[in-house]
Amino acid sequence: MELPPHKTKIVATIGPATSSKKMIEKLIEAGMSVARLNFSHGTFEEHEKMIEIIREVSQKLDRRVAILADLPGLKIRVGEIKGGYVELQKGEKVVLTTRDVEGDGTTIPVEYKDFPRLVSKGDVIYLSDGYIILKVEEVREQEVEAVVISGGKLFSRKGINIPKAYLPVEAVTPRDMEIIKFAIEHNVDAVGLSFVGSVYDILKVKSFLEKRGASDVFVIAKIERPDAVRNFNEILNAADGIMIARGDLGVEMPIEQLPILQKKLIRRANLEGKPVITATQMLVSMTSERVPTRAEVTDVANAILDGTDAVMLSEETAIGKFPIEAVEMMAKIAKVTEEYRESLGIGRFREIMEEGIRGSIKEAITRSIIDALCTLNVKLILTPTKTGRTARLISRFKPKQWILAFSTNERVCNNLMFSYGVYSFCLEEGFDENDIIRLIKGLGLVESDDIVLMTEGKPIEKTVGTNSIKIFQIS
Ligand code: PEP
Repeated sequence: MELPPHKTKIVATIGPATSSKKMIEKLIEAGMSVARLNFSHGTFEEHEKMIEIIREVSQKLDRRVAILADLPGLKIRVGEIKGGYVELQKGEKVVLTTRDVEGDGTTIPVEYKDFPRLVSKGDVIYLSDGYIILKVEEVREQEVEAVVISGGKLFSRKGINIPKAYLPVEAVTPRDMEIIKFAIEHNVDAVGLSFVGSVYDILKVKSFLEKRGASDVFVIAKIERPDAVRNFNEILNAADGIMIARGDLGVEMPIEQLPILQKKLIRRANLEGKPVITATQMLVSMTSERVPTRAEVTDVANAILDGTDAVMLSEETAIGKFPIEAVEMMAKIAKVTEEYRESLGIGRFREIMEEGIRGSIKEAITRSIIDALCTLNVKLILTPTKTGRTARLISRFKPKQWILAFSTNERVCNNLMFSYGVYSFCLEEGFDENDIIRLIKGLGLVESDDIVLMTEGKPIEKTVGTNSIKIFQIS
């Protein structure tokens, strides 16, 4: 077996362009580690079929893939438009209506019934990730009349942002809860919560999962509202991972603040050992072109240098003309960028040593691993793990060695596919160190004389979980 050529994880959104078995196979071969199902689109039946296909193909190829169900949340959307889209011209009057109609010409349906109560005369409304701008002229019971300030093509089901509007406190909607139930029943690995505002949104979903015996389903908090930025530390603490959802974030906040915000959020997530996905428009020009722009390539590389665990593709793989090429491009950028960072020999070592969380035995163990990596030419880091936490705490340092994690829990293994440089194996209950060594030798991942490092958890006194490391040479 060969480990992937890059350690940064690639999240690819599945859509009409990639929903066949053949395309899923090609996406996995190109480097996809996480398949994202966007529940803002498609029916339960369609998603059920996709989950079956992804599981079947990943088993056939023997490549681990996690499935992320991205929930719509409180996102207000345009409804269906006749012919799929309408072209809005600057200066034109439009009517946004909550009545159940198909959009036509200048009548645009809005799916949120309380929409007219969110805006007043003079407010600015952004459509389609901010590309189209409207200014409210009149608010009626079921309608909002507005003038187009900046026009463009508006497609069915595109998002609506009103940065100044007061949104209900709870971001997780009854529809989201139905989707989470579906996700549990269909063995999905992770759910992405949209428009999270506070830690209570995360806790609500966590408690729902726990009551249904599914507390190992990952909760990924999508950071896309100013509230989420303000409450970021508590949200990060409660969530299993975060997504920097730059599409909505770039409309809800001044767009020029995005680059620095991205660096700060990634850094905080790295310090806590929680996986972070950088999302949206990373290679968006590849939706219609075979070659990305230089700026996009640089954006992917910079996100990796910022310390992101994963990079995400949305329309590029969902509806784009070159979905496989987009994943291959990300994989190539990741490989070159990681090699550069590894040549500097630093990873995130120094920052995490100085500022990363501390106070538990696991944290102390993972810190001492870094010391060993600086001293010895270690080939692999081997981590038996119950919850995946030890592997994630090592991954936060972004070492050049692969971290191989071994667990008996399939979902723990799948969710390690969100973390930089971790590859996981699911083993039978009761496996021991010798089983791990036999496995990696059998797969050809080590050769005689290679030095490996293994974390270990032998219960002693009150201590359970990882409490020591072994460093040894393969015979
Ligand atoms: C985003 O806004 O960047 C994002 C990833 O969320 P969605 O695709 O659900 O709009």
